Amino acid sequence: MCPMEEHEEEIAATLEHEPTGVEVAYFVICPRKLWFFSHQIQMEQESDAVLAGKVIHEQTYNRMKKERLIDEHIRVDFFDPSGILHEVKKSRSIEEAHELQLLYYLYVLKQKGISTKGEINYPTLRRTVTVELTPEKEEKLQKILVEISKIKKLSSPPFVEQFPYCRRCAYYELCWV
Ligand code: SF4
Repeated sequence: MCPMEEHEEEIAATLEHEPTGVEVAYFVICPRKLWFFSHQIQMEQESDAVLAGKVIHEQTYNRMKKERLIDEHIRVDFFDPSGILHEVKKSRSIEEAHELQLLYYLYVLKQKGISTKGEINYPTLRRTVTVELTPEKEEKLQKILVEISKIKKLSSPPFVEQFPYCRRCAYYELCWV
């Protein structure tokens, strides 16, 4: 089997157990957080930042917003009348994670024969970031999906160095106290 075929098989196996959008975002933020979350150790409801995000989510774009389930694991915020996929976020502090999450949604849609673009909306900042699934980004995303699958299969959470934002993470006590 050539390396390309091996890589394609690995991606296919990964997508059989598709990650959620949150898991994809957590891969960028912290692999350890991804492991906790994917093992149903979920403490996010205790985080003020997450609660604030939910309030913004509920109060903005009400006329357009209609959460859509695009498969068993993927719930997107809304599609606008031109078919662009939107995700509403609170702040740009983890913009890389937001972008990867949206790229993943675009990727899943593409697997279903739907090609579109995405926009990340930051209503409190009055900013919009356009996201497109280019071939380069798709290749990078496929490699990340394989890595996510490997992390989820670990029998214990991966070790990471402490991040500056650990103190604001809901899992702080589990990791560092
Ligand atoms: S406290 Fe830090 S190391 Fe632990 S899960 Fe959160 S971000 Fe990761």
